[in-house]
Amino acid sequence: MANIHNKNYKLCFICSIAINYLLLVNLFMNENFEKNWTQNAVEEAEAVSSISCSGHGRAFLDGLIVHGKAICECNTCYGGTNCSKLLPHCMVDADSGDPIFLEPYWMKNAARSAVLISGWHRMSYEFSDGSLISKVLKEHIRNVHAHVGNAKTDGKYIIFGVGATHLLNAAVHSLSSYGSSTPTKVVASKPYYPVYKEQIEFFKSDNCKFIGDTTMWKNNDGSNVTYIELVTSPNNPDGQLKKAILQDQGQNVKTIHDLAYYWPHYTPILQPADEDLMIFTLSKFTGHGGSRFGWAIIKDEDVYKRMLTYIDMSTYGVSRETQLRVLKLLKVVLSGNENKNAIYEFGYNTMKNRWIRLTNVLSQSTYFSIQDLNPQYCSFSHQLRKPSPAFAWLKCDNVLGNIDCYDVLKTFNITGRAGSLFGGTDLNRYVRLSLVRSEDDFDLLLTKIKKLVDVESKDL
Ligand code: PMP
Repeated sequence: MANIHNKNYKLCFICSIAINYLLLVNLFMNENFEKNWTQNAVEEAEAVSSISCSGHGRAFLDGLIVHGKAICECNTCYGGTNCSKLLPHCMVDADSGDPIFLEPYWMKNAARSAVLISGWHRMSYEFSDGSLISKVLKEHIRNVHAHVGNAKTDGKYIIFGVGATHLLNAAVHSLSSYGSSTPTKVVASKPYYPVYKEQIEFFKSDNCKFIGDTTMWKNNDGSNVTYIELVTSPNNPDGQLKKAILQDQGQNVKTIHDLAYYWPHYTPILQPADEDLMIFTLSKFTGHGGSRFGWAIIKDEDVYKRMLTYIDMSTYGVSRETQLRVLKLLKVVLSGNENKNAIYEFGYNTMKNRWIRLTNVLSQSTYFSIQDLNPQYCSFSHQLRKPSPAFAWLKCDNVLGNIDCYDVLKTFNITGRAGSLFGGTDLNRYVRLSLVRSEDDFDLLLTKIKKLVDVESKDL
């Protein structure tokens, strides 16, 4: 009997040692896992960023993999496995306003701006207070505006959207009258950003209708017509600082201020905008068009609530991954480590330089011209500054006959955006050229325009 007891006792002792050992191993492995959970992600990210694409392209973490390696995605008109080949007779892209000109700023700030997202990061639909908006990010947005002095946010509501595109629709929807026999009339001053019209016509709401150029409706009819005026300042495509036209006429007018380009990169900051409804976007501010992030600053609580409902119904908020990334980017922008104005200086100097180079080339031309905007005092830089808009609004002179300016540029391998899209066929003497794309795109555009001006001096 005693022997059996002894044996059992020994067995239990061995078992408990084994169990404790396994627990220890488990604990050790867990600790190991927790300490190093970022390591794979770091290695993957570093491996991709070290792929050379000859300065004319980029490899991305989520790009195509060939022979186990991420491939280079080349800039327009460049090809080859490492993007070193300039493709002959290539069509230069000056169409979309993709703000890649800010990429070098972020390359320089790569370490400070990187974010690592764990598999368990904010999996919930909501933040712990039930909202869909990061309070910390909202505070950072207020701080950015306070620093730049381009918008007053005190006492106003802020909501987030999937880019300004989403917020524009939310705003139009929220300001339109419901159940009225006549839809709210939506107007914008010519030349206007085409998406305003396209969006309203695409969604076909009974509550609103796009009716074109604002000036056509100035001093027009009466008290029971409701208008929504879209004011874009600086304007896309011509960079003009615009003001609302209808609001002082005693009509029932609501105004949406699209301030996508009201940043020191593009314009002197005249004063902080203090409008009832203002829309901004990350894309034209930091250059991150692909993050699809914008914000609206709203004075009136009812409008705020209606816009919030629109956001809930359409997307249930902006992705938490995007909000985390935007927070990191704004921390870098606001950071005191370096120069607090670094992104604005980089943005302005790059755009100013491009404008000087383009203006010089076109000064040799009789038939092609671009807008000339006057310098104004900039309260941000404390300087008299010439605007440096995101787009050149290029005009083909009348002497060229009844031609479509877009087609003329196409024959010289330049794709711009046709002037007629910005408010009607009478604008077909104009083409919008995007100046915010990559350095490669801008250099190639300038080369083609030089060619156009050379041909003009010889042949026309
Ligand atoms: N408003 C204007 C005047 C724009 O030019 C743009 C972008 N081209 C937008 C809004 C849309 O911006 P987002 O990329 O944030 O949707």
